[in-house]
Amino acid sequence: MAAAVKPLVAGNWKMNGLRRDAVALAGALAERMRREGPPRCAVVVCPPAVMLQTVGEAIAGSGIGLGAQDCHARPSGAHTGDISAPMLADAGCSHVIVGHSERRADHDETDAMVRAKAAAAQGCGLMAIICVGETLAERDAGQALAVVRRQLDGSLPPGATAANTVIAYEPVWAIGTGRTPKSPEIAEVHAAIRAAIAGRVAGAATVPILYGGSVKAENAAEILAIAEVGGALVGGASLNAADFWTICRSCP
Ligand code: PEP
Repeated sequence: MAAAVKPLVAGNWKMNGLRRDAVALAGALAERMRREGPPRCAVVVCPPAVMLQTVGEAIAGSGIGLGAQDCHARPSGAHTGDISAPMLADAGCSHVIVGHSERRADHDETDAMVRAKAAAAQGCGLMAIICVGETLAERDAGQALAVVRRQLDGSLPPGATAANTVIAYEPVWAIGTGRTPKSPEIAEVHAAIRAAIAGRVAGAATVPILYGGSVKAENAAEILAIAEVGGALVGGASLNAADFWTICRSCP
């Protein structure tokens, strides 16, 4: 864990659940916050966009932050089905995930598009959680560090600072698979990310670098204790309040 950095644990709910599920999950987390007090990390939940308002109401006053899973690069206009960063800020979001590998794959999002989205988010006061990570083929070919450096290079907007940027290292092959890199492999990539953002991001030493990919209640403590891991981006396990809370509580 980098010194003096408050870790962040963010739950990416992806395209799961209906409003009643979202209210139950958000309510259960808010209740734990109130009952047990805040963990040593900041906690953010990222529900589907259509549930942002409902979840925002369920976590109001709890200390849990609200995040979105994507935004458009433009503030408004003829972009049917898209949601702008100002709309997310207006809906009460503090964070937005950009460049998740599922969006890079499903929607052909390029680094340039991710950079434009991150800039849009940062321009209206949101923290951009910028995701990078290699595929299994790239790791097997020994290209993990080169891929992550290239993605960072293309995805970081010029105005990125510690006040508006979080990096999430998410190896594509670890997402939703139950597989995770070995601790030294995570440490190696996180150190490379820290080095890559130095000089590019104002206050780079304090930018949280999250690990994401099959973080569970059972492995969270070990992963969160790795050098330079400043928190976690959690998919599947964030859909269970007890598991997600255990992960949050595992922050050193
Ligand atoms: C993710 O998609 O951001 C993620 C980390 O998913 P999971 O935890 O399910 O691997």
